[in-house]
Amino acid sequence: MRIVVAEMSHETNTFSPVVTDLARFSGSGTVPPEGEAALKVFRGTATGLGGFIAVCEDAGAEIVLPIAAGAAPSGPVEDAAFEHIAGKIVAAIARGCDAVMLDLHGAMVTKTYDDGEGELLRRIRAVAPHVPIAVALDMHANLYPETVERADVIAGYQTYPHVDMDGTARRAGRALLAMLEGSAKPTMVWGNAPMLPHVMRQGTDDHPNKELQARAKQMEADGALAVSLFTGFPHADIAQAGLSVVVVTDGDRTLAEKWRDELLDQAWHHRAAFVYKPEPLDESVARAKTLGAPNGPSTATGPVILLDHYDNTASGGTMDTTEVLAEILRQGLDDVAVFGIFDPAAVRQMVAAGVGSTITVSLGGKLPMPSVPRQSKPLTVTGRVKLISDGRFPATVAMSRGLTMNMGTTAVLATGGVDIVVISRHIEPFDPGCFTSVGIDPTKRRYLMLKSRIHYRVGFKKLARAIVECAGVGVCTSDYSELTFKKVRRPIYPLDGVNSRF
Ligand SMILES: [Zn+2]
Repeated sequence: MRIVVAEMSHETNTFSPVVTDLARFSGSGTVPPEGEAALKVFRGTATGLGGFIAVCEDAGAEIVLPIAAGAAPSGPVEDAAFEHIAGKIVAAIARGCDAVMLDLHGAMVTKTYDDGEGELLRRIRAVAPHVPIAVALDMHANLYPETVERADVIAGYQTYPHVDMDGTARRAGRALLAMLEGSAKPTMVWGNAPMLPHVMRQGTDDHPNKELQARAKQMEADGALAVSLFTGFPHADIAQAGLSVVVVTDGDRTLAEKWRDELLDQAWHHRAAFVYKPEPLDESVARAKTLGAPNGPSTATGPVILLDHYDNTASGGTMDTTEVLAEILRQGLDDVAVFGIFDPAAVRQMVAAGVGSTITVSLGGKLPMPSVPRQSKPLTVTGRVKLISDGRFPATVAMSRGLTMNMGTTAVLATGGVDIVVISRHIEPFDPGCFTSVGIDPTKRRYLMLKSRIHYRVGFKKLARAIVECAGVGVCTSDYSELTFKKVRRPIYPLDGVNSRF
């Protein structure tokens, strides 16, 4: 049995100015890995590909892995990158196989196609109309009907932070193998609700997504092959952005439709709990300062975490906005570690100056963000170059465990009260290795500033004394009024008053 296993994964923020070319899909290398090299990178890892590889190897199948292409979220994918990656996958399938397992995201927009995954699947169906296809998707998928129609099995993450990427691929892969053996007849239905849940309110530790995902898991325990509630990705001005549900049962369409409708009703009922209200930045930072003060109100230990969530790179942020950092400096918080500011030019300056030297840099605020009204400004900072690193460290937390993380050339700038990690490659801080690999022990700091929304919880939440959400500037602004939606289907909640999900 020959199975084509491949990854083309990108969450596109259509408001992001960050370019998504082929190099961005290259992981810790310079090009996306292929064949044996890709198997070596992903075998045994806590990733979608890791899950598919395990399922195939357990079944004794021959794996053909044409390309493993995953990129951090950013602007629409360049056509050349899409053509290169899709071309490799389609060519491998056209050469002949018994099944296909795809690790996709489900919110990929290219310069040409609003539904990148749908276009990939259309091309696959053109060369292999009947080959069984399983697809693993991110919980932030924005689903189009064509994607569902062209696949046999779809499963999505049931956790955010995404600690079940490999488990999701295993669920999708096992259902497809059962179909191949003739022991199951996957029957898939889908539907959506006119709502854009806010990313800051999608965590699966929190109401209402905690209960929604628990119900989806219960339906699987009660016999469904896969049940997925996609909260969707709102920073995408495309028709099908928003919440959707896919249910796969073993041959029972009526039950699949009943469970789909139950989940959509439950999500719609709790739509107000998916709305986020930002707090003014100066108030958040002042509150954080008090919470972390030596004789402050908290008896808990560990750092106070300030989340710069308007500029989360894993929602497409430039990771170079400086407003939260500037407010931290203005209010004089001390013993702070910051991760991080993306600024390759500043890193080069610090490398040229050398470790131990004192330097003044114009930090961040360099990438124009034409899609949002408020722009960031570079921050002039003087400090000592504390450390320079190649920026690589092994992921050790449940998200991506086993993969090498790559921050690019990295330098730490120490200003006295604040240590700033300056990086050359975008990465969201979810693994403490982003600090420990550059000589910072995050557990020993009074404050951490993280450019993150929810994924920081994997590696940092248990360390924290308190979490303070800080509204800065960026293309993943948590204030929808800063975004201009032209293509998303209307009416949609909460952009419009909507009283019914139909
Ligand atoms: Zn996601």
